[in-house]
This record gives sequence, structure tokens and C-alpha cells, in this order.
Amino acid sequence: MGLIRLLIIAALIYIAWRVVKNLLSSPRQADRPAPKQQNELMRKCAQCGVHVPDHEAFSHNGKHFCSQEHQRLYLEHHE
Ligand SMILES: [Zn+2]
Repeated sequence: MGLIRLLIIAALIYIAWRVVKNLLSSPRQADRPAPKQQNELMRKCAQCGVHVPDHEAFSHNGKHFCSQEHQRLYLEHHE
């Protein structure tokens, strides 16, 4: 009976290997790069005070704004 037991063990190892391979390969497809970096510099809007990521902020003369609309409003009242 030793040979049959060996075949069963081999089959179980093969199935386990397939399961592990599936578990390792499937999350990789869903894994996308994070849209926002946690350590990205945050800019405070001079108009409303909201914090926006540096790449989304509108900058003007060292001031930062969450939107072009707030940049326009701020400049209307401060220049
Ligand atoms: Zn704003």
C-alpha cells in the first residue's frame, strides 16, 4: 500500500501547489499602485484652508489654492 499512499501524497502536494500558485498570482492583477502617496506634501488653500496634495494645488506667488476659483477669489480680495 506504500505506493498508493505516496501517489496520494504527491497528488495532495500538487493540488496544494496549484492553490498556492493561484493565491500568489490572483492578487497581483488587482494590485494597483496607490493613487496617493502618503508622504506627499500637502498645501493649504489660502482661501478656504482646505488641505490638498501638492500636485493638485494651484500655486500663485507662493500661495496655494484648492481650485482656480479660490485662487481667483483670493486674488480679487487681496490684490
Ligand atoms: Zn479653497
